[in-house]
Amino acid sequence: MHTQPLTRDRSVQYRTLKQITSGLPTSDGAGVDLTRLIGSPQLNMLDPFLLLDHIHADDPEEYIQGFPMHPHRGFETVTYLLAGRMRHKDSAGHEGVVLPGGVQWMTAGRGVEHSEMPEQADGLLSGFQLWVNLPRAQKMQPPAYQEFTPDSIPVQHLPQEGGAVRVVSGLTDAGIQGPVESPWVDALYLDIALTRNTLFEQHVPHGHNGFVYIMEGDGVVDPNSRLSAQQLGVLGQGDRVAVRAGDQGVRMLLVAGRPLHEPVARGGPFVMNEREEIVQAFEDYQQGRF
Ligand code: FE
Repeated sequence: MHTQPLTRDRSVQYRTLKQITSGLPTSDGAGVDLTRLIGSPQLNMLDPFLLLDHIHADDPEEYIQGFPMHPHRGFETVTYLLAGRMRHKDSAGHEGVVLPGGVQWMTAGRGVEHSEMPEQADGLLSGFQLWVNLPRAQKMQPPAYQEFTPDSIPVQHLPQEGGAVRVVSGLTDAGIQGPVESPWVDALYLDIALTRNTLFEQHVPHGHNGFVYIMEGDGVVDPNSRLSAQQLGVLGQGDRVAVRAGDQGVRMLLVAGRPLHEPVARGGPFVMNEREEIVQAFEDYQQGRF
């Protein structure tokens, strides 16, 4: 157990929390109940992140209708599952199933039309969808997929049975590299499980925006911002994050990325820079140019 105080290096600036939100219960797709953590009235966006939804439902009536065919343009959708199975299928014939601990990182680029459907009749469905914006120069690139099964996500085991970190994207301080390539925002995407009182630290480059989301248990983000289950904490500036698990341990996401600092025009499933580009997207979609 690591119970000593945080080590202080004067050249290091630890990030504190500048906002805590529990998100907004809502529904999307064909009526799937979810909590919108980013893209809500409390937290409209966290450049480059446009949206974060947490689905967590064990009543099939809350999720069985799924997300039937719908388009996207101008950004990336990241599906990371904790429980259940999700089948995705696009209009170009690409198809696959995301399993618990697996990820689908889809670069919608100039346009895809796809469905995302729970592949289960009962039981718990739990997971996240994150929308990562693309820079202007990349919004109209051809669509692309990065898909990784649960066992192809590297795991960093913490000393003294302190827990484990699943590295989806980015590089941990211990040198574990996630398989997802995210060249435009250099995304860090970690699924972190800590046993009670364990301290975890990670470099997050100065200038990058990021957040911590607590799935289970609780923790303290340095030095004294306590976060409980189902709370998202927006990181303030600095270059390191330190989180200490509470008495029950903690399971959390740590996600960060380089902001794009570009104008954002949103129109439902399309995210571009200018309003006219949204109009164009609807027109292209209706004309079958996706
Ligand atoms: Fe989608």
